[in-house]
Amino acid sequence: MPYRGAVRDPSISRFAAARLSPERRAADLLRLRQDRFDVVIVGGGVTGAGAALDAASRGLSVALVEARDLASGTSSRSSKLVHGGLRYLEQFDLGLVHEALQERGLLATRLAPHLVRPMPFLIPLPRQRWHSGLLRGYYGAGVALYDAFAGLTGDGRGMPLHRHLTTGAARRIFPSLRNDAVGGAIRYFDAQVDDARLVTTLARTAASLGAVVVTSARVVGFRRAAREVTGVEVEDVESGERFDVTARTVIAATGVWSDDVAQMISAGGGPFRPGLRVRASKGVHLVVPRSAISGEAGLILRTEKSVLFVIPWGGHWIVGTTDTDWRLDRAHPAASAKDIEYLLGHVNKVLDRPLSTSDIEGVWAGLRPLLSGEDESTSALSREHAVVEPMLGLILVAGGKLTTYRVMAADVVDHAVRRLGLAARPSRTDQLPLLGADGYHQLMRGRDAVALRHGVSVGVLEHLIERYGSVAREVLALVDSSPRLGRPLAGAPDYLAAEIVFAAAAEGALHLEDTLARRTRISFETSHRGVDSARAAADLMGEVLGWDAAHKVREIDHYLARVEAERESQRMPDDLTADAARLGAPDVRVFTHLGSPRSGAA
Ligand SMILES: Cc1cc2nc3c(=O)[nH]c(=O)nc-3n(C[C@H](O)[C@H](O)[C@H](O)COP(=O)(O)OP(=O)(O)OC[C@H]3O[C@@H](n4cnc5c(N)ncnc54)[C@H](O)[C@@H]3O)c2cc1C
Repeated sequence: MPYRGAVRDPSISRFAAARLSPERRAADLLRLRQDRFDVVIVGGGVTGAGAALDAASRGLSVALVEARDLASGTSSRSSKLVHGGLRYLEQFDLGLVHEALQERGLLATRLAPHLVRPMPFLIPLPRQRWHSGLLRGYYGAGVALYDAFAGLTGDGRGMPLHRHLTTGAARRIFPSLRNDAVGGAIRYFDAQVDDARLVTTLARTAASLGAVVVTSARVVGFRRAAREVTGVEVEDVESGERFDVTARTVIAATGVWSDDVAQMISAGGGPFRPGLRVRASKGVHLVVPRSAISGEAGLILRTEKSVLFVIPWGGHWIVGTTDTDWRLDRAHPAASAKDIEYLLGHVNKVLDRPLSTSDIEGVWAGLRPLLSGEDESTSALSREHAVVEPMLGLILVAGGKLTTYRVMAADVVDHAVRRLGLAARPSRTDQLPLLGADGYHQLMRGRDAVALRHGVSVGVLEHLIERYGSVAREVLALVDSSPRLGRPLAGAPDYLAAEIVFAAAAEGALHLEDTLARRTRISFETSHRGVDSARAAADLMGEVLGWDAAHKVREIDHYLARVEAERESQRMPDDLTADAARLGAPDVRVFTHLGSPRSGAA
């Protein structure tokens, strides 16, 4: 393990407690077996990681267990917007929009300014004068309300106000808009985040406050004493070992797997009504190179069912999304050729140079956890989140969205605290900057000198600061200790080799897929989808995780099979055939010790 002693800068010792290293995983596994926790949280998506941070920051003893990788479910597959949701305004969900915009402001200014960035969007208006005027009034009123909800002045807003644009101004900002399709636009602001990075940062911030965080730890059953849940049975998916974890309260934050919790409880005997049901709706996104579209803002376009976004993403554009029911494999939702055709068809209505399948660099599909009431009393819950306590000691939280994770987390931990009768503090996460936020602005301001000191270009340093905030100092320390880590990763010039090492040494990445798909976004940002980086990344991860040659080959083979299965699914005409093609590559975690895939297993 050549990197353990590499961090010499005393200013970064405060990051040590946040390090999800292999040694930390072993120690946390031991604690899982031995300790009795105030709260055990099942599910390491944004909801579970947010709840772990909320609980740990109130002084509770907390364990977070995730079946696969942090953010491996829906939370790495969103549109990556921190937004109020303009379309919810149309549905008069005013409270929801207001709450989300308040959260957007908090995240962009105080909690995670290093991760959450303002992003301008255009609402293109139609060419016909009367129609355009009508819509300008309609959308103009909507975005004015949107701005008002975010707070018209003050530091908390974090975003500029909206503006009305003429046709000429709209085309100057977005030259690729088709001349005959656009008669002016309205520009408003929302914010963007790397969703998987947000979740990893939440989990690491929780770990820095003492939370146990273990990935590849699947809950396979619930411990019960009479009618009370007293813990969970966990399988360490890496070793195949099973053991019990004792908890005063269990919080299930399992997204589209929420119904499985009910099944596991029912399997323990006796009737059980979970109080909420979650159904999955699939959303697909495409990634195309930045050069395929000329524009300096995002677009929001209306579709028959919902809206379509065209969003700048570094050197790329994201186009999405679809919205269709999904009842197949939840661990690997597959995009079909029909989904891709739908997205291209809609975006091409406004672009002067149509996109085709040959422009596509990457594709991902995610599943929205939509609440559907189990009975009359819960059927109105669809868009909001819900917290229910169907059994003593067990609290379920589901629904909501990435933007409002903090509100969901505070809500579910409030329930836990009330149940435990603890004198815990109220939630204080609105005052708690995430790891990397403290010192971020200072580091950005002093970047020229810092870059010089570490022998990297200012551009490289900016890239690191925008991904890690002040934690970039830790990545720089790796480069100092081994200058070869300051070189770009093979096949992915946007990333440094040091980032792969850091993912395995400090961010809990255990498999190649964790690093290529979530700690970095190489799997959808390159047209080879990470294949050309797999060998180099496996070598770097192997140095930290002690992989021998056979282990590296297994990891690479698995990753290549995953990419091939995804490509194949995207050629299939519909969901059924796409799902069958995607299942051609089993999940690396189940594969490592069981040798066969388990469909739908988290
Ligand atoms: C296409 C799409 C676009 C979206 N865009 C946006 C957006 O732009 N902005 C926004 O705010 N929101 C957006 N959302 C919504 C947002 O992404 C989700 O609401 C959020 O990510 C859900 O997080 P979660 O933690 O509840 O679920 P998940 O992220 O799915 O986490 C659940 C976790 O539980 C784990 N798990 C399941 N069973 C077990 C078990 N037995 N043991 C241990 N772990 C288990 C899973 O592995 C998984 O990691 C979008 C959603 C989709 C699908």
